Amino acid sequence: MNAAALIAALPFGAVVGSFAATAGLRWARGEQALSGRSRCDACAAPLGFGATVPIISFVSLGGACDDCRAPIHPGHFAGEVLGAGLAMASVALLPTAPALAAAALGLVLIAAAVADTASRRLPDLASAAAAILGLGLALARGPAALLAGLAAATLTGGALFLLRRGFTARRGDPGLGLGDVKLAAALALWLGAATPWAMALAGLTGLVQVRLVKPADGRIAFGPVLAASGWVVGLALQAGLFGDLMP
Ligand SMILES: [Zn+2]
Repeated sequence: MNAAALIAALPFGAVVGSFAATAGLRWARGEQALSGRSRCDACAAPLGFGATVPIISFVSLGGACDDCRAPIHPGHFAGEVLGAGLAMASVALLPTAPALAAAALGLVLIAAAVADTASRRLPDLASAAAAILGLGLALARGPAALLAGLAAATLTGGALFLLRRGFTARRGDPGLGLGDVKLAAALALWLGAATPWAMALAGLTGLVQVRLVKPADGRIAFGPVLAASGWVVGLALQAGLFGDLMP
C-alpha cells in the first residue's frame, strides 16, 4: 500500500462521491443526471466554490442552503463520506488497477442507492455499469472467477425473478423490485461463489432495517442494503480475505 495514494483517495473519493450522490438525486427527480453545474436542489441557486467542498461545506453550512436555508438532502453528505471511505478502503486493500475498478463500482452503487432512497427505483444504467466493472474485477481474479460470476449471475437473477413471480401469485405484490433483481445479478457477476454471503448479509440487514425504521407500508428501499452488502463482500473477496475458499 502506498501512503500517498491512500491520502489522495480521501479527497478524490469525497469529490466523486459527491458527484455520484448528485447524479442519483437528479436521476430520481427525472433531471439530466450526469451534467450541469452544482446548484441547490431546492432554490437552484448556483453553488460557489466554497459551497462545493465535500463534507466541509455541508458541516460549515449546517446542512442547509446558504441562499434559501432549505435543508440539503442528506444523500449528498452520505455520498461524500461513503465515497471517501470506499476509495480509501479500496486503495488500502487492493493493487492499483483493481482498486480503481472497485472504487468506481462503489461510486456507481452510491448513485444507485441514493436514487433508490429518493425514488424507490434503481437506474438501469447504474446496474449495467456495475455489471461491467464486476466482470472486469472477476476476470482480474482469473478465468475460474469469471465463470463463477457468470453462473452466479444467472442463478441469482433467475432465482429472484421466480421469487418475485411466486410472491405476486400469492399476495398480488412482488415484494422485490425488478431493479433489485437486476442489481443483484450485476453484483453476482463480481461476487461469484461469494454471492450467497452478500445476499444473506443484505437479507439480515434489510430485516433489521424494517424492524428499526418500521415503515408505514412495511417496505424499505432494498437497493442501498443490497449495494452495501455486495460491495463489502466483493472487496473482501477481491482482497483475498476469503482465502482459497472461493475463486
Ligand atoms: Zn437553496
